[in-house]
Amino acid sequence: MRIGILGDVHANLEALTAVVQALQAEGVDEWVQVGDLVGYGPQPGECIDLVRELGCTVCLGNHDAAAVGLLDIAYFNQFARDAINWTRGNLRPQDVAYLRSLPLVVKKDAYTVVHGSLHHPEEFGYVISPVEAAESLAMQETFACFVGHSHVPAIHQQLVAGSRTLDTAYQCEAPVSVARAVRVLMNVGSVGQPRDEDPRAAYGLLDLETKTACVRRVAYDIEGVQRKIRSAGLPAMLANRLSMGI
Ligand code: ZN
Repeated sequence: MRIGILGDVHANLEALTAVVQALQAEGVDEWVQVGDLVGYGPQPGECIDLVRELGCTVCLGNHDAAAVGLLDIAYFNQFARDAINWTRGNLRPQDVAYLRSLPLVVKKDAYTVVHGSLHHPEEFGYVISPVEAAESLAMQETFACFVGHSHVPAIHQQLVAGSRTLDTAYQCEAPVSVARAVRVLMNVGSVGQPRDEDPRAAYGLLDLETKTACVRRVAYDIEGVQRKIRSAGLPAMLANRLSMGI
């Protein structure tokens, strides 16, 4: 089984379309989205429609929660707050109902899906370092877990059950073998707003037959979405950052 994983789409339809095409060309059996479908970008409804059409397994992100009044935006920075307020005014009733229906954690047979960390999912903590990954892995009951939130890709492997010493790869465009892993925690990076100084859209792929995992990158029409962000009246900084991958 090959699982295609999308994360932090942030209403960027150009990036989402490019990633979906890339994953369809790779061939996937199941689709996952790790939260933050909306917030920052100009096309929340279109992105929700596409993710729903794909039949993705989806969990709730902090921006999704904020956009439908489930999370206080007092701790968001000014750009994120402005974008949430814009998003609230641009969601259709079916988008609001859909986002409100999303669970914080989804557990399947082979994998779990959560936006930030399995360690207090409702707090939306970041998994970036192996220390944070170990906290989440301590709560992980399935072979794999997919997260996003930090917008920085990484594959953390636990090679000994219960161990807090992990095998971590941040360079993971080429397939990484997970054949020796007891547990795998994949941060799939961000489709719609990468922050690792690589502006290309990111997507995760886990192959349970070959026991390989990777986070690949695909170029997309950045100028196209930048024009839409500016003409929608969203903060210009949200357009500018996309060409820098920050
Ligand atoms: Zn995000």
